[in-house]
Amino acid sequence: MRIQHCTSCRSYQHYPRPICVTCGDGRPDEVEAAGTGTVDSFTVVHRAGEPFVLARVRLTEGPIVLTHLTGVADPRCDQPVRLVEGSDPPVFTGSDVIGSDVTGDDVIGSDVIGSAFTESDFTGSAFTGSDDGL
Ligand SMILES: [Zn+2]
Repeated sequence: MRIQHCTSCRSYQHYPRPICVTCGDGRPDEVEAAGTGTVDSFTVVHRAGEPFVLARVRLTEGPIVLTHLTGVADPRCDQPVRLVEGSDPPVFTGSDVIGSDVTGDDVIGSDVIGSAFTESDFTGSAFTGSDDGL
């Protein structure tokens, strides 16, 4: 899946927007996300048909994606997940390894998980990225 990356302040954002919501700079680039993250929050929806898991997944790069979890029998918060290859829209499944294939010094770590409920991508407010001084 593709996310936006600001070349000025090096923050990531998702969903796509015409400017960087962190620094206000011009149109951010699009990059391929690592496809890994952790469950930020979830709910199991029991409605007409098979129950399914609706989840907020915090990508390794930082942004949050509202998605489905598949193949996860017992979902839990902070659980490592990975993108189901080829899924569109993006769907995630369980993963025992997080970030093993993430390289490069411009990837924001997953140390922002604890602040998930103070910076939401869903309310339209600015995503502030991580607190690690970037
Ligand atoms: Zn920026």
